[in-house]
Amino acid sequence: MIPVQGYADKTVFVLGMGRTGLTAARALEAGGARPICWDDGEAGRSRAADEGFQVQDPLKGDALGSASALIISPGIPHLYPQPHPVIAAAMAAGVPVDNDIGLFFRSYATRAWENYDQTPKVIAVTGSNGKSTTSALIHHVLEQANRPAQLAGNIGRGVLDLDPAADGDVVVLELSSYQTDLARALTPDIAVFTNLSPDHLDRHAGMGGYFAAKRRLFAEGGPDRAVVGVDENEGRYLAMQLSEGPADDRVIRISSGQKLDGPGWSVFVKKGFLSETRKGRQVASIDLRGVSGLPGAHNHQNACAAYAATRSIGIAPRVIEAAFHSFGGLPHRSQLIAEVGGVTYVNDSKATNVDSAAKALEAFQNIRWICGGLQKEGGLDGLHAHLGSVRKAYVIGREAEAFALGLGGIDAAICTTMAEAVSRAADDAEAGDTVLLAPAAASFDQYDSFEARGNDFADQVEKLTHQDDS
Ligand code: ADP
Repeated sequence: MIPVQGYADKTVFVLGMGRTGLTAARALEAGGARPICWDDGEAGRSRAADEGFQVQDPLKGDALGSASALIISPGIPHLYPQPHPVIAAAMAAGVPVDNDIGLFFRSYATRAWENYDQTPKVIAVTGSNGKSTTSALIHHVLEQANRPAQLAGNIGRGVLDLDPAADGDVVVLELSSYQTDLARALTPDIAVFTNLSPDHLDRHAGMGGYFAAKRRLFAEGGPDRAVVGVDENEGRYLAMQLSEGPADDRVIRISSGQKLDGPGWSVFVKKGFLSETRKGRQVASIDLRGVSGLPGAHNHQNACAAYAATRSIGIAPRVIEAAFHSFGGLPHRSQLIAEVGGVTYVNDSKATNVDSAAKALEAFQNIRWICGGLQKEGGLDGLHAHLGSVRKAYVIGREAEAFALGLGGIDAAICTTMAEAVSRAADDAEAGDTVLLAPAAASFDQYDSFEARGNDFADQVEKLTHQDDS
């Protein structure tokens, strides 16, 4: 645990008693603060009470007004579409609102570091898609390079749950827009921006707010090194704004598909080859075509980001290349589930938005596409240019019919349930086809999480395997 610094003997409210909130309360207490916990749900309040924390409604009495801070969990809206009433009350009273990420950045460095030979470092990864894969890949490369490394944030452990830094430690943090928008301290040594496409627009009042939330990670006085995906205008804008000129190598530009050979520092993939260029010359290259854990152009973008981040802390290209080959990928992201009768089954349940589904559709051929669920703002038009490899869609979700209507007229079967979709796709599939779950929608109309949806897909595929055996 990272004891929180700066709040000794002070009262701090913690709102939301999920994993993040409970960990924050513990870390505050370990640093000498007096946390007061609250959750709108009875179950959350009981969890806090069971651990012996004081539980009190912040909207009753005047304790909130005299608190030093209010710490909130990422699931709680802090501004759009409406601030949660407790946050609104804190804002009205002028009480600073923060989150576990802000507390972490205030508390990670300690006096013990004065005796270290190698100062610990934090690499923080944000972007619309590829954060988890990139963070896990960076962590994997560091481990293979024998650097002490810890993975936290949206993936892995809660940040305040990490072990205090050891000599030479590297913390890899995956940060969502909700987290970067609110954190009052954001000071990574290396910050990574993978890409930007519409997502969570309701929480940020549109694309401008969404981009602004992510950009906070690079705010002035921010990272020593910025790794920036320049395949969209927003990334190009960010890279331009962070650099003093085209040769400024504090910014490493990355791309999947574009050749980058400017005078600065770049990493790009073309035709399956990753190249690192500095001052206009290639200094290293890796053949990614045989790297099975990173299929498709989208994963090549993640490889560029992980390569750039680990190169910038001195890991050698050959070590990175070997680590890429031993990376197993993450569950629910382009995950190979089975091959039955020459048909490949791929679980990309994490494709919860249009852009990530489009990338999955570009990564495979002859696709029997399982899609549908709770549609996000912005509609499905962004998929239309990426349907060339789709043989047929099998639409799930409570609103399957409406979803199918948004698919630009491709052949689509209304299946509603996963069992029906897998069974019909398997019946139709011929050897060489890929049955791909890439929903382009959230899962909450039918499942608790994208993981539950991906597991259901895997279970249905498993049933086919047994049928095939019998
Ligand atoms: P995040 O943590 O940002 O949601 P993940 O690594 O979990 O990212 O991947 C989320 C989804 O996006 C998955 O469907 C995955 O296949 C897809 N994806 C992964 N990397 C990228 C990328 N660089 N660009 C677009 N889509 C991606």
